[in-house]
Amino acid sequence: MLRIGLTGGIGSGKSTVAGMFAAHGAPIIDADEIAHRLIRRNHPAYREIVGAFGAEILGADGEIDRQRLGERIFDCADERMRLEGIIHPRVRREIVDQVLVLESPYCIIVVPLLIEAGMQDLTDRILVVECSENQQIERVRARSGWSEDQIRRIMAAQVNLSERRRLADDLIINDADLAHVRAQVDRLDEHYRALSDAMPRPPATR
Ligand code: ADP
Repeated sequence: MLRIGLTGGIGSGKSTVAGMFAAHGAPIIDADEIAHRLIRRNHPAYREIVGAFGAEILGADGEIDRQRLGERIFDCADERMRLEGIIHPRVRREIVDQVLVLESPYCIIVVPLLIEAGMQDLTDRILVVECSENQQIERVRARSGWSEDQIRRIMAAQVNLSERRRLADDLIINDADLAHVRAQVDRLDEHYRALSDAMPRPPATR
């Protein structure tokens, strides 16, 4: 199983690209979805987070209010590391478990903070999707209604474009229409299938 780590800044097009790989039949593992599920009420991570940050991060429904939690940790490195110490090891374990049961030439593991969280070792190749900063801002603004300031603050906390490029094995430039991005995904799908075919197989058991 060839494991492709798909990453990129906010609004760069990760979900769009993942959807196009899914259309080729590639299984998609989504680290954000895993993290959101792990912090739901009655999960061990929920209890640890509420223990660490107090009931003020809960919404009226008793679930963790991710926006409140995000604001609480955003400007405080200690608090952010504390939260990551609770969530990241569990996300890692679940990614490993999900990969183990897959049977396909390759899979796409979408990890927005792949580089920031040091999860590269869970992948065989890093695929970076990128567009210009202005496009990121425009796309996120249209999607969420957040202000440019808010979006820039999030972008500033993520690794920059050149660092991502330095670590990328493959790059998708998402600076034009969707047909342009789909053509790049089609080429990479073929490439990943060929790489997977060339990978050594475990000996067959009788
Ligand atoms: P990410 O998952 O990296 O945050 P998304 O894939 O959600 O990014 O893309 C951000 C927004 O921009 C979404 O609303 C998406 O539909 C839109 N989008 C992405 N790529 C394009 C494109 N090439 N042309 C137009 N809109 C796009």
